[in-house]
Amino acid sequence: MMATEAIKYIIGIGEPLIGRLILYDALDMTYREMKVPRDENCPLCGKNPSITKLIDDYDAAAENPETFAPAAD
Ligand SMILES: [Zn+2]
Repeated sequence: MMATEAIKYIIGIGEPLIGRLILYDALDMTYREMKVPRDENCPLCGKNPSITKLIDDYDAAAENPETFAPAAD
């Protein structure tokens, strides 16, 4: 489902899952949808993002995460 969302978003078709979360229960074969409000303090998509680029060296980030993690408020 995530790949489908990415393809929809890239080619600009359909209704994107922005602001919504789909819960899939494979045992019951049911789906539920929840609204997810935007977090204005999100370090990635909030009003003042502290994460603005991809990490170049994941091995270094894994060994020393505080160097790469956004500052806690
Ligand atoms: Zn966010």
